[in-house]
Amino acid sequence: MQCNCRKDIEQKLADMFREKLPEGHQDFDAKLNGYTFLMVDGGLDEGVCLEFTGDVQVPKKAGGMKRQKIKHTVLANYCPFCGVRAEAAKGEVSTNG
Ligand SMILES: [Zn+2]
Repeated sequence: MQCNCRKDIEQKLADMFREKLPEGHQDFDAKLNGYTFLMVDGGLDEGVCLEFTGDVQVPKKAGGMKRQKIKHTVLANYCPFCGVRAEAAKGEVSTNG
């Protein structure tokens, strides 16, 4: 994503949760899930992924039925928060430190 939505929303959520936690809490560690790294045309980007999951009963060759899992990942073309199109950030990956 070419935006800062993930970072911004993670910060807002962390702030909101920290306010509600008792004084003296420790080791707060939380993140916004559903993002994955993408390598496209030499660029590196982060995309939002949604999972399509479930199961189905399919016929077995020997007769009867068996349960088959369904799991597929769908990559969003646009940021779900601000609408910016997802595309690789060409030239932003540096090996010069
Ligand atoms: Zn965004």
